[in-house]
Amino acid sequence: MIVRTAIGQDSHRFESSTARKPLVLGGVIIPDHVGLRANSDGDVVLHALANAISGITGIPVLGEIADQMCLEKGITNSEEYVRRAISDLGPNQRISHVSFSIECVTPRLSNYLTAMRDSISRLLGIETTDVGITATSGEGLTDCGRGEGISVYCVVTVIEV
Ligand SMILES: [Zn+2]
Repeated sequence: MIVRTAIGQDSHRFESSTARKPLVLGGVIIPDHVGLRANSDGDVVLHALANAISGITGIPVLGEIADQMCLEKGITNSEEYVRRAISDLGPNQRISHVSFSIECVTPRLSNYLTAMRDSISRLLGIETTDVGITATSGEGLTDCGRGEGISVYCVVTVIEV
């Protein structure tokens, strides 16, 4: 069995406070918080995941492919970008674990981590226990740590049998 790991990162700035766009993280709508600036739904968690999977496949989905899906076909649901990245995995490769580190001041994510883990595990077809998420406030040291947006790292583990 071959085990591969890859890292993905993404960050997005919040929309202006008057924007109506909902905040979507890991496929879960976080109520009462302004969304993230992006052509898509701005799901920065799933974008980091798609980038991590691309780190295994060598085929970058975010960028040209996702832009085409978004701007030409109107696909704004970031779950579709992740599905596209998964489709590039080899026939004997499967995701066994994902781990996320999220930096933001708001929203406070502790109440949503379970729902996000459930949502991501369904998307990937793995157990909830194989989806790890931690969240930190960033201590004001970065733009995200000062509340201007959200930054996410994702590490994916893929086994090949
Ligand atoms: Zn993004």
